[in-house]
Amino acid sequence: MRAFDFSRAESVGSAAQHGNAETAFVAGGTTLLDLVKLDVMRPAAVVDINALPLKTVERLADGRLRIGALVTNTDLAHHPEVKRDYPLLSQALLAGASTQLRNMATTAGNLMQRTRCPYFRDVGSACNKRQPGSGCDARDGINRMHALLGGSADCIAVHPSDMCVALAAIGATLTLEGPAGEREVAFADFHPLPGDTPHIEHDLAADELITALTLDAPLTLDAPLARAGSHYLKLRDRASYEFALASAAVQLNLDGERITEARLALGGVATKPWRASEAEAALVGRPAELASFERAAEIALRDARPLAHNAFKVDLAKQAIVRALRDATRAARQGGTDTQESQA
Ligand code: SF4
Repeated sequence: MRAFDFSRAESVGSAAQHGNAETAFVAGGTTLLDLVKLDVMRPAAVVDINALPLKTVERLADGRLRIGALVTNTDLAHHPEVKRDYPLLSQALLAGASTQLRNMATTAGNLMQRTRCPYFRDVGSACNKRQPGSGCDARDGINRMHALLGGSADCIAVHPSDMCVALAAIGATLTLEGPAGEREVAFADFHPLPGDTPHIEHDLAADELITALTLDAPLTLDAPLARAGSHYLKLRDRASYEFALASAAVQLNLDGERITEARLALGGVATKPWRASEAEAALVGRPAELASFERAAEIALRDARPLAHNAFKVDLAKQAIVRALRDATRAARQGGTDTQESQA
């Protein structure tokens, strides 16, 4: 591991002053320290931001929930207001990583998580994301875990976060702060598609920090008489601790047996947290039954571009969608209480 300068920031302003392309901010360190040890990231300086006052969760007057950037994944998953109003987010957080990692990992760190593409993490491989213009060894390599949706000739790496899949379905806004002041970015716009610049992974300048994440108001606030249900389903090679092969985050409102609102996002199959808007539109107005779910799954995956080793994920993702819709419907019928397993 290469040597780096180390300091601690006492305020967001002082942290931002340290920010530049050679500096990394560290909170939980669950991504950064791995990548520094692998020589994938080579910061000249690391700034510890754990002392910043960004660890609270507060309800805003308009019904939204504002989450400090340093709230841990464990605290967020078990927060009473998250469990009550955003069970989808709680389920997704608990499906990610291990207990030990969730105890350390933060909300902002999860948003900044980097891909698990093995070629990205091996400095002997060609990788446009790690070294722009060097090529992509995954294209003709072992690409079993790689993306079906949102890929480009330059990169097909999957976005690894479970939390972000739930956020894609819920809707959220990030608050960023730097020397120029504060600005807000819609969660949907924060992670770009790779295109021909896969090394650009987010809309965050080197001298900016994420200070908060604000969740959109729960669906039930817009339609208080509707029956709302949600479910996060993660399919992976082993249940103990693994990244998704395919996952689906679903929120539904039902009026009787008819779907009046649908949110659907996918993980494990796309280069960014993937909102399946056309599939959502196809669900609205339809009965909450298997035929509607299967049709939505077909629509969500119709633009899939399988690679040599990951074609099986097309059917896997469709099954994840159908099962998550089925379980969200069951939750809605039970008054939003989802008692089913969120992972398999
Ligand atoms: Fe790098 Fe992306 Fe190719 Fe993986 S898929 S080797 S991250 S360019």
